[in-house]
Amino acid sequence: MLELDWGHLPFGYVKTDYHVRSYFRNGSWTELEFSTDDRIPIHIAATALHYGQQAFEGLKAYRGKDGKIRLFRWKENAKRLQHSARGLHMPEVPDEMFYEAIVKAIKLNLGFVPPYGTGASLYIRPLLIGTGAEVGVKPASEYLFLVFVTPVGPYFKEGFNPVSIAIIRDSDRAAPLGTGTFKVGGNYAASLRGVIKSKEHGYSAPMYLDAKEKKYIDEIGAANFFGIKNNTYVTPQSTSILASITNKSLMQLARDMGLNVEQRPLPIDELETFEEVGACGTAAIISPIGLIVDIETGKEYRYCKDGKPGPISTKLYQTILGIQFGDIDDPYQWVEIIN
Ligand SMILES: *Cc1c(COP(=O)(O)O)cnc(C)c1O
Repeated sequence: MLELDWGHLPFGYVKTDYHVRSYFRNGSWTELEFSTDDRIPIHIAATALHYGQQAFEGLKAYRGKDGKIRLFRWKENAKRLQHSARGLHMPEVPDEMFYEAIVKAIKLNLGFVPPYGTGASLYIRPLLIGTGAEVGVKPASEYLFLVFVTPVGPYFKEGFNPVSIAIIRDSDRAAPLGTGTFKVGGNYAASLRGVIKSKEHGYSAPMYLDAKEKKYIDEIGAANFFGIKNNTYVTPQSTSILASITNKSLMQLARDMGLNVEQRPLPIDELETFEEVGACGTAAIISPIGLIVDIETGKEYRYCKDGKPGPISTKLYQTILGIQFGDIDDPYQWVEIIN
């Protein structure tokens, strides 16, 4: 086992030993290969560089008390990368190849999987990019699929503690009929103005509203939004949201806890009515929200009045984490042990 400061890892890049690659050429994927070099030579006219033809995924491997390494719902990530690939006219990576690549990337870097009990995990980043040279706007004829891994600590320095969010009205992450449902870098580039603005005002992340009417909640940074009231878990439905696998899992766990679940357009005015609100995604799992400020109108929405996350968010968080680390029963076989 490596000597990293497991308890204080940032959410950032730590160099590991290997990553895994495959190339798409002449209509098919090459055998997976691995490399120790964390740079790639790329053609100066590659479509990924100029026209944003790229997509990625993010999932984690968790080491349990038994020392075994667990993947959480990897097939959902494989399906979503295929959805993103179709969206940007790139070749799909088949499920089996996706799985083989992530397992290989983990097994080649076993010493980087953080020990149980440190709160850290191994972040897995599959990436699909257009590498073929084009100057006109059209899909490339060659692609690279790669998977790297890196050990990560908590996404927010606050950990499982309430964060503050700024509602952004002068930039949009994604258009209603744009690329919001695809996990692509272009959406992240588009989100940077909002991210920076929220930070400049002292908030952890931006809340994006629907681009057309500015009336409904879309997302919180790179996480989905949920609110809880009257024993109901409510999460937005929109054509510009990236469907979070964490959110999908929380909806199921909420039902199992006896809550009703509603996925529907969620008007911003409804923020006043929630007992608990939070953001969810693989990176932070759940970030409870203590304050949302509409920085243009000055309107504030306050939660966690005692400074602590709400009881339902806490229970959801403990349950999903318990399943991911193998501490509690996994009734839906979401977890796959790989060693
Ligand atoms: C990846 C991502 C999420 C979170 O999805 P998970 O599958 O839960 O990790 C939410 N919103 C955006 C924009 C994302 O890119």
